[in-house]
Amino acid sequence: MTSVNVRTGQDVVRPDKDTFLSEENPFEAMMSRFDYAAKRLSLDAGLYKVLRNPEKQIVVSIPVQRDGGDVEVYTGYRVLYNTSRGPAKGGIRFDANVTLDEVTALAAWMTWKCAVVNIPFGGAKGGVICDPGTMSMGELERLTRRYTSAIIDTLGPDSDVPAPDVNTNERVMAWIMDTYSMHKRHTVTSVVTGKPVAMGGSLGRREATGRGCMIVTLEALKRHGMPVKGARVAVQGFGNVGSVAADLLAKQGAVIVAVSDKSGGLYNANGFVVADLLKWVEEKKVLAGYPNGEAITNEQLLASNCDVLLPAAMENVITSKNAATIQAKIICEGANGPTTAKADAILEQKGIFVIPDILANAGGVTVSYFEWVQDRSGYFWDEDTVNRRLERIMGTAFEEVTTMADKHAVNMRIAAYMLAIERVAAVHRLRGMYA
Ligand code: NAD
Repeated sequence: MTSVNVRTGQDVVRPDKDTFLSEENPFEAMMSRFDYAAKRLSLDAGLYKVLRNPEKQIVVSIPVQRDGGDVEVYTGYRVLYNTSRGPAKGGIRFDANVTLDEVTALAAWMTWKCAVVNIPFGGAKGGVICDPGTMSMGELERLTRRYTSAIIDTLGPDSDVPAPDVNTNERVMAWIMDTYSMHKRHTVTSVVTGKPVAMGGSLGRREATGRGCMIVTLEALKRHGMPVKGARVAVQGFGNVGSVAADLLAKQGAVIVAVSDKSGGLYNANGFVVADLLKWVEEKKVLAGYPNGEAITNEQLLASNCDVLLPAAMENVITSKNAATIQAKIICEGANGPTTAKADAILEQKGIFVIPDILANAGGVTVSYFEWVQDRSGYFWDEDTVNRRLERIMGTAFEEVTTMADKHAVNMRIAAYMLAIERVAAVHRLRGMYA
């Protein structure tokens, strides 16, 4: 199927909607894009098979003594998807809905994300099926330490470097670092990233994903000849990624017209004072009740009158059911997997420029890479250096993805996958196959 790119006037070859069968299965959704990109690259059949399969999937049972004395056994996973370009890199999530399928999809995602921004890591992900909301700090610590020791053979600065993900944070990373270090009999800060700055974390890491979103949004606006001053931005999710991106974009002159979180959304045609919103959320924890905006639903936020839509909350929010209602000209995917494959086809038909997750939110893993480099060299950079280097990497990656998109007349998502697959495949060819 073809349509016309509204910016270049070129024909765009795009996958048929029915090419993508599953709208919500994360592994299938990711793999459908991978398959299409691999086909466009004419990837040889052998390498296709190698890249379509995870290198290693570890399943562990984690016994934990609850505070009341009972013993519970949790299931944990760690998936190393591909390590041809360097140590595996990827977060650990604690969540009741974790599945091996999801962890594998997220590990593959990390492989492509690290390759898009050209940092020397492979991709991994970990997860433990649990409900952290019902667990005490002591129980969470025991769970984290036992999970760490269960997967300790794969962990290490040269082999597998975790980071925070859903329901894990720098507190959890500190426990992992300590457990690993106790086993090794010396302190190894570079075994995890996203640590507290006081124990080897990097300045700028907390803001890195939102900052990366801001950098690529500015690039996209420039590419479309749209000034950032006055650009109307709607942000779904006002957590780490969304709030930082909103704040930094506002500081560049953009007008934040809509924001939302799990408590609902707010709209203000004149633009919010982001510093006020940040203060409100710091005090009240949620946006609900903030006085200077009109209450809207998350669905209304997606369809709101804006130039840039920044989904920064969760997966599968832009679907075949609502994609047609989106008015934004640019979508910057701060969240992982916010757009289903079926919705992609609709957005492209509408001429909406999508900065895909594996590029848009790669600022976080890029500064994680900086953290790992700083830990290994024992020399720490000031925040300005971190931000400048982040800007260079994100700017280069944006440029490389757009060049690929223009060269092959594909959308940005497929171009990002093509760039990533090409980079991972090139290393496989150079290394050859160990037999
Ligand atoms: P967070 O927990 O700090 O914030 C999530 C925000 O989304 C909160 O404001 C929450 O209220 C809101 N939210 C939850 N459910 C919602 C719903 N149904 N509708 C609207 N809003 C809802 O998480 P975060 O770290 O900002 O991560 C957000 C997304 O970005 C996730 O998809 C995450 O995987 C992705 N991401 C994060 C990083 C990072 O460095 N933090 C890096 C890459 C990708």
